[in-house]
Amino acid sequence: MADYDYDLFVIGGGSGGVRAARVAAALGKRVGIAEEYRFGGTCVIRGCVPKKLFVYASQFAEQFEDAAGYGWTVPEATFDWKTLVANKDREIGRLENLYKKNVESSGGQTFNTRATLLDRHTIRLEKEKRTVTADQILVATGGRPAAHPALPGNEFCISSNEAFHLAELPKAIVIEGGGYIAVEFANIFHGLGVQTTLVYRGTEILSRFDMDLRKALHETMEQKGIRILCHSLLESVHRRTDGRLDAVVKEGETLVADQVMLAIGRTPNTEGLGLEAAGVELGKVGEIIVDEYSRTNVDNIWAIGDVTNRVQLTPVAIHEAMCFVETAFKGNPTRPDHDTIATAVFSQPEIGTVGLSEDEATKRFAELEIYRAHFRPMRHTLSGRSEKMLMKLVVDATSRRVLGAHILGPDAGEMAQLLAIPIKAGLSKEDFDRTMAVHPTAAEELVTMYRPTYLVKDGNRVD
Ligand code: NDP
Repeated sequence: MADYDYDLFVIGGGSGGVRAARVAAALGKRVGIAEEYRFGGTCVIRGCVPKKLFVYASQFAEQFEDAAGYGWTVPEATFDWKTLVANKDREIGRLENLYKKNVESSGGQTFNTRATLLDRHTIRLEKEKRTVTADQILVATGGRPAAHPALPGNEFCISSNEAFHLAELPKAIVIEGGGYIAVEFANIFHGLGVQTTLVYRGTEILSRFDMDLRKALHETMEQKGIRILCHSLLESVHRRTDGRLDAVVKEGETLVADQVMLAIGRTPNTEGLGLEAAGVELGKVGEIIVDEYSRTNVDNIWAIGDVTNRVQLTPVAIHEAMCFVETAFKGNPTRPDHDTIATAVFSQPEIGTVGLSEDEATKRFAELEIYRAHFRPMRHTLSGRSEKMLMKLVVDATSRRVLGAHILGPDAGEMAQLLAIPIKAGLSKEDFDRTMAVHPTAAEELVTMYRPTYLVKDGNRVD
């Protein structure tokens, strides 16, 4: 083998890249990793983690209201956006250091610089103005919020990146998109007291989820006071003389807001990385094309995480990193398993889901049993809140296998994590039925829905 400076060089210090670097270094490999912005990547620095902290912050208004039914008198509460941002930044700084330190304490070398490829084994460390060589190279540069050049006035819009650092909390915000980020931020801003409008081009928000959850969440968000415009699009955004923004939507209505946020998907970060120089093939949206082992067409260059545009979720990038290390350094070729991935939308109420939606299952199975419970969770009895919880199991009537579980309500994300185990394991409805309930919980509904609410036969609902 030629004499390289590193056994592995990782470009991108997010969740996937850091995991691969750390684990490979712990195996005794000579590992370098470069990050141009901040170690931790999207998830830690401007994604999942700060978002969840904002979600917690935005839930207090309702909790203060709910406390009254339980006998508490809460003095009028006030909220300070700058305190939230500063405290969040302190926590993110702590995590950033931890990510970097973890690589170093495993024996890896970290570089705070942009790194680009000069050829299939040579990496240029831009800030240090020098090159290094590596036997294996892993690209884990993630993605960024998709731009919207076709929208006149897009230069006045923010993305989730800026939403974490706004100098002032807006009085009113318009958010375009109907996916995870648009829905989560609509709930965050609304919870913090911002007048919020969601503009979505499709029929119903969250197109990749079970229709019952989508409708029920939409209804609940509207009841809380979030305005949702479906079948709608932003046509243009203009800066007014008073400094605010006019967001003109398709039907011609003008929404006045202090911020307009675009959450219309994410684009893989592949530009200017020297991938062409190294001969790495890219796909239609600029994603790195990889085989089932995360290897590119250049056999010593690999890619994992959002830059490959497979499944844009942190735990998936981490899993792909672990599989990469098994394959590249442990002589144990391992394909990442992308089947049956549980996921949560931290809306309010939350969504937790795993497996097939009813619509997807209908396309693949001749006969389904649908179990559905729609009820007011106990915590909302004394609070007087009318919000309901929804739980749904999709079962293949022939094999009895539970194909999907879909929950809307408090702690749905936590439940989805646990439901992922029986559903991934292919357990049957009877396995759910003979599982003892934990009482009193909301989750006990999942093991006490004994009779199907309706059947679906050859695509048709039978009550
Ligand atoms: P999503 O892919 O979830 O949603 C994008 C939304 O934008 C869709 O509603 C889409 O509509 C709409 N859209 C796309 N292009 C346009 C356009 N040109 N004009 C108007 N609307 C458009 O992306 P997000 O940006 O919300 O999130 C990116 C990824 O990050 C997610 O896929 C997810 O994997 C990950 N993520 C995960 C979270 C979690 O696990 N809780 C939280 C946040 C992000 P349509 O439905 O019609 O295609």
